[in-house]
Amino acid sequence: MTDLIAELDAWLDDNWDPDLTVAAWWERLGLAGWAAPSLPTNAYGKGVARNEANAISQRLAERGALPAPAGLGMLLAAPTIAVHGTPEQIERYVKPIVTGAQAWCQLFSEPGAGSDLAGLGSRAVQDGEEWVVNGQKVWTSSGHIADMGMLIARTNPESPKHQGITWFAFDMHQPGHVDVRPLREMTGRALFNEVFLTDAHVPDDAVIGGLNNGWAVANTTLAFERSGLGAGAGGATSLANAGTIAGDLPKRAGDFVRAARSPGGGGGGAMVAGSQRLFTEMAKQNGMIHDPTVRQSMMQLYTLGELGRYLTLRIKAEKQAGREIPGAGNLAKLSMSEIVRQSRDLGLRIAGPAGTLHSYTSEGRRALDAATGNPVLGFITEAALFAQAPPIYGGTDQVQRNIIGERVLGLPKEPSNERTTPWSDLPKNG
Ligand SMILES: Cc1cc2nc3c(=O)[nH]c(=O)nc-3n(C[C@H](O)[C@H](O)[C@H](O)COP(=O)(O)OP(=O)(O)OC[C@H]3O[C@@H](n4cnc5c(N)ncnc54)[C@H](O)[C@@H]3O)c2cc1C
Repeated sequence: MTDLIAELDAWLDDNWDPDLTVAAWWERLGLAGWAAPSLPTNAYGKGVARNEANAISQRLAERGALPAPAGLGMLLAAPTIAVHGTPEQIERYVKPIVTGAQAWCQLFSEPGAGSDLAGLGSRAVQDGEEWVVNGQKVWTSSGHIADMGMLIARTNPESPKHQGITWFAFDMHQPGHVDVRPLREMTGRALFNEVFLTDAHVPDDAVIGGLNNGWAVANTTLAFERSGLGAGAGGATSLANAGTIAGDLPKRAGDFVRAARSPGGGGGGAMVAGSQRLFTEMAKQNGMIHDPTVRQSMMQLYTLGELGRYLTLRIKAEKQAGREIPGAGNLAKLSMSEIVRQSRDLGLRIAGPAGTLHSYTSEGRRALDAATGNPVLGFITEAALFAQAPPIYGGTDQVQRNIIGERVLGLPKEPSNERTTPWSDLPKNG
């Protein structure tokens, strides 16, 4: 690890320049393998373990350099394509992800297919060397700033439902055929969207991992999602947005550095990293630090965070020994759900009555912080409102438990004929 950080330091001495544009800096970082170091070496990475990748991104932040692009391209699309894509597809899709040139979204969930994802009904029909796609996706995080989408669509309705699905690298720039509409959350933000696909096109060579093999490819994506969102995940992320739509690429990289994210974005990983410090400061200021029950809750939270960290180290040690801990990603995600719930409850408790105040705009949150004298109130209330999300996205807590029960503990599955009946003959949700 020390060698890796020394190598990064030397590289930064030669390459970091705050006057570069975001695009130019991310291109250097990505092509050198420092943007997504946990990717394999044949896919613009360095093949390092996740805790090493976290240490690299922390070091970038400590050195005052703009961290690597964030988002679902980095978290999900790039590692999935690195596993299932051809060398040509890795070049075409992974390269613009690690250099931040393109942003991605995940077009998985549908109004009638969330936990039962394999029941999805969006259809892709072959037309020469292309596929024509019709259907609706929902809860599409960052769909409004995405250049590309990880699309799973039904390509053979006559197969059982897990077998007739294909994973496509899908171009979101199709005016009139791809309609992205924002959905507002109770935090006040609109981070996700519904996406309507009407005679949209995707070429044959954008099929990742083989025709009708999309369920296996999607499970790779979901595994990266669980472990990336789980306790123990981390690393500094950039406030500059990847992709052509957000508009940050031509801006000066150095201008985003001071904004390198402190805990405040509402995301689970950020909460683990920073909530302990914030809660302690806040409790010291208002005297609640002397309340033994508050101290006990703080210790519980600290313990959960440490368990998450140890789980990550254990996963790494097993990986190095050529083994895998079955269900580790599911456990990490369940642990994260518990951490955000406990953080929500503890944060609101320490905030006291002011915790009932929330503004839906950044300006309003700043005004409330000033009026209450609590500089982190906006973070606390936003994180509390957002805490409902991590136990849902990436597969709900109940679904994680089902997976552990059925695939890890070998408990009997729910009786069903869905593995043998054509999807077209199954009853549909929604
Ligand atoms: C903030 C946020 C961001 C998201 N971003 C994306 C995104 O970018 N792309 C994307 O494709 N999706 C995204 N999602 C969607 C997410 O993956 C789904 O919400 C999730 O899979 C649950 O599906 P559902 O909402 O349809 O709930 P349902 O599947 O309808 O579930 C409703 C309830 O029933 C329970 N349940 C369902 N089936 C079972 C079962 N077999 N056993 C026990 N309990 C069960 C569930 O646990 C849940 O409590 C996002 C969701 C959130 C909240």
